[in-house]
Amino acid sequence: MTSYKTKEVKLKSGKVLRIPVDSKGHVPESEIIKHFNNQREGVKNGRKRRCNTKDYDKFAEKTLPLKGLTPREIAKWWNCPADGIDIEYVDTPAKPQINTDKVHMTAARKKSQEKIKIIGTPAEETKVRTILNTTYSEKDLERFASGNPLIIVRPLPSSCNGRHFRNSARIDLERNGGNTAGVLAHEGSHYMREFDKTRNDPILKANQKACIEESCTVAEEMARSPDPSDNGYYDKVPVWDKDEQKWRKPTISEARQMAKEDRDLFTYGRNKPLKGNEALESVRKNWPKSHISRLKYKSSTMAISDMAKINPSITPLSIPKEARDIKPQRSTQNKNKRSNKQSTLFTTKPGTKRSTTKKKSTSLGAMIQKRADKMSGKGSRSKKKT
Ligand SMILES: [Zn+2]
Repeated sequence: MTSYKTKEVKLKSGKVLRIPVDSKGHVPESEIIKHFNNQREGVKNGRKRRCNTKDYDKFAEKTLPLKGLTPREIAKWWNCPADGIDIEYVDTPAKPQINTDKVHMTAARKKSQEKIKIIGTPAEETKVRTILNTTYSEKDLERFASGNPLIIVRPLPSSCNGRHFRNSARIDLERNGGNTAGVLAHEGSHYMREFDKTRNDPILKANQKACIEESCTVAEEMARSPDPSDNGYYDKVPVWDKDEQKWRKPTISEARQMAKEDRDLFTYGRNKPLKGNEALESVRKNWPKSHISRLKYKSSTMAISDMAKINPSITPLSIPKEARDIKPQRSTQNKNKRSNKQSTLFTTKPGTKRSTTKKKSTSLGAMIQKRADKMSGKGSRSKKKT
């Protein structure tokens, strides 16, 4: 990490600030972000509470550009970022950016990337564009871009690393924990499930029921992402307790084990991300036998049972009759096992026939972020962590 010299600025109150500067005497972007990240406001339940989301959504009277700020110009903001001054992209949204020149890519990718707008600092934009290129094939990216999506890198509440806004082509990524390959693949999947009209199978399309939507989205993240996120949903996948003869919450290590086994299942044991139709085909074919298909989230039943109601080719999970015969076992010794067989922890054998059910997909228009859009409480937060 670069260490910068600091320059002293004395405020009217007499307080002296030491502000980092680069060789040109400007405050570096990375230091501005670092300083903003360290802001805390109040204490809740004994923990310091982040105020950055509130600041980002509240528009100050004066907005400074991010680039070329001197210590004197930034001093008031540095003393208190939430107090009357904003810096573009740091604590307030600004004009969406399309800078494709900083990332090396093919002409076809460049054409697609030019349809994707990003609101974030220059470094954040470069990172998002790089992840898009590594996560999606050229064809995937073309489909992704055809909805003219807007991706915003910003502070989000601490429980949330990303969110997708229903019926809009907008994705928000948490600046510190969410601008990652896993979270982008997850939120990108929510968006593509809604937008990509070439998808016909109910397993691959957006679903109003949160349990199904999150379950199938995690499956796609597992298949596609170079680095799946620790998204928290495996904590909500019940496991069959043989002694108690009932479903129960998994332990942390069981949740991790299930995530690992699903990653194996969806990548055919290769632990390498799939792209294009191979990724979608894997989700469609393997979801019914995955652990994540048993997700129980905002629903009294598991995702697979909910899915069976709309998709006749899926067999609902019979509890506990089918499960009673299955021996739960920790499968660390099966690390390299090709897992397009059965998952080892707890499993069922639902049907996997391709469904021909067609649902009309929602058309999405490009939604450009306006400064007036306060962003708070408008979309549906797609999930707790991502
Ligand atoms: Zn989600």
